Amino acid sequence: MSSPDQLQRVIFEQADIRSVISGLEQSYQQALANHQYPALINELLGQMMAAVSLLSATLKFDGRLMLQAQSENQVKVLMAECNHQRDLRAIARFDGELPEQASFHELLQGGQMVISIEPDQGQRYQGVVPLEGETLAACLEAYFERSEQLPTQIHLAADGQRAAGFLLQVMPAKGDSADEWQHFSYLAATLKDEELLELDNTTILRRLFHEEDCRLYEADALQFHCDCSRQRTANALRYMTQEELESIIQEEGSIEVNCQFCSERYSFDQSDITMMFSDTANIEGSDQIH
Ligand SMILES: [Zn+2]
Repeated sequence: MSSPDQLQRVIFEQADIRSVISGLEQSYQQALANHQYPALINELLGQMMAAVSLLSATLKFDGRLMLQAQSENQVKVLMAECNHQRDLRAIARFDGELPEQASFHELLQGGQMVISIEPDQGQRYQGVVPLEGETLAACLEAYFERSEQLPTQIHLAADGQRAAGFLLQVMPAKGDSADEWQHFSYLAATLKDEELLELDNTTILRRLFHEEDCRLYEADALQFHCDCSRQRTANALRYMTQEELESIIQEEGSIEVNCQFCSERYSFDQSDITMMFSDTANIEGSDQIH
C-alpha cells in the first residue's frame, strides 16, 4: 500500500520531464465525513482533491489553488482547494437522485470549470478549463496543452476510501523534447486506477519506467484542514444590512452559520451584530475626521 496523504515530486534524470504523485486517505475521508454524498459524488470529489493536490505542486508562492466545476444539471457544484501547506478541503452540491454511474462529462455537460490561483499577496489568476474531455483528467490535460503549451498526462482515481493522482509533464522552458515525451507518455498511459490507488510510489515508477533513472523528492504531507473562522464568517455576513440581520435575530433568536466545508458552527446574537456595525461606524467616522 502506498503512503497515503502525501505528495511527491519526481524528476527524470535523463529527460526534461517531471512527475507528481499524490495519495489521499485520511484527508479524503475527513472531507467526506460531514456529508452524506452518494458514491458517485464521493468518487468525483476524490478526483477533484487528487487533482488540486497535484496542481498545488506547481505553486511557486504562498497561496491557494482551487478547482470549481458548476452546472445547471443535477450536480451544481464540485469544488476542491489545496494551499501551499498542502491543506485540502472540498465540497459538492447536487439536487435529487443521481444515477449510479455517469461520467464527469455527462454530469457537468453545459456547465463550466474554473481553476483559480490566489496568492496570499498579489494578483489572483483565473483560467477556464473547457469541459470537453470525458473525464476530469482529460479536461485538465487539455487545459495544460492549450493554456500553458505543456504536454501533460494526468491520471485520477478515487473509490470513496482512497484517492490518488499522477501527473506527467514536460518541464517548462526546456528544449525540444517531443520524442522523449512520446516515449514517457506512452509508458505512463498504461497506469491503471488500481495500481495508482494501491501501489507505493516507487513501485509505480518502476513498473511504468523501469529503464529510466528518476529522482524522488522528499514527500510533503497532505491533510484536511479548513481555514474558516468566526471573523471570516462575520465578514461574509456584512454583505447583508444591519436591518436584515436584526430581523433574522428577531425571528430566530440568533444567526447560525455552518461552514460548508467542515460543518463548524458559528453563532451570532444581537450584541455581535451591533458590534459588527459599530466597528464600521467608527472606521467611517475616523475617515471623515481625516
Ligand atoms: Zn470550515
